[in-house]
Amino acid sequence: MIDCPEAVRRMWAYLDHALARGATEEFETHLDACQRCCGELEFSRHLKELAATSGAESVPDPLRRRIEMLLGGGGTGTDPGTPHD
Ligand SMILES: [Zn+2]
Repeated sequence: MIDCPEAVRRMWAYLDHALARGATEEFETHLDACQRCCGELEFSRHLKELAATSGAESVPDPLRRRIEMLLGGGGTGTDPGTPHD
């Protein structure tokens, strides 16, 4: 299975419907197992809508980087199999 940083990397392509079918399936499989990324997807979707309505072509880089950091940066010592609430 793909890990959280990989899922986040694919999230943006997923929202753009730019993922290949296999990559989409891996991404959705990860979301099923990972509450954390599932929340991030909703958040990202919301961001993307905001960006669309404000005329931006994509989510601003700093925001994107921040989400990637949230999921991929401070992950030492956490158990990926245990969803947090
Ligand atoms: Zn995840």
